[in-house]
Amino acid sequence: MIKTILIFIWTLPQSLIGWIISIFFEKSRAYGRVVYYWNLSGALSLGLFVFVPKDASKFTVSHEYGHSRQSLCLGWLYLIVIGLPSFLWASLQTIGLFRNVCYYDFYTERWANKIAGYTCYLDRALRKIFYSKVKEKNE
Ligand SMILES: [Zn+2]
Repeated sequence: MIKTILIFIWTLPQSLIGWIISIFFEKSRAYGRVVYYWNLSGALSLGLFVFVPKDASKFTVSHEYGHSRQSLCLGWLYLIVIGLPSFLWASLQTIGLFRNVCYYDFYTERWANKIAGYTCYLDRALRKIFYSKVKEKNE
């Protein structure tokens, strides 16, 4: 209990926002992790709180826990170093900018994947998909 309180204080800005949001969603477990299911298509990690779609894959849950670990490392700096850049990066890709750059090549996402243990597999898989699409465009 003391450990959770200390982590909550260390990650206060993001955990407080996460706690407020969590009030509105169902707490559950996915792939051995505590998550909150919501009806949005994207996922979000705010300190101790991870929000995922109901059909989230193991990769998505693990990736969000990678962000959760980043939060533990960075404490109060998380929202500035990871949260805001990650949100802007996702927004830019959603509106169609930087489509030729793999989403997971951005430092916030690559780091989360590395923490989640997906570095080699995911990099290889995504680069294969990405480069084959670039190749198709050039043909
Ligand atoms: Zn991410």
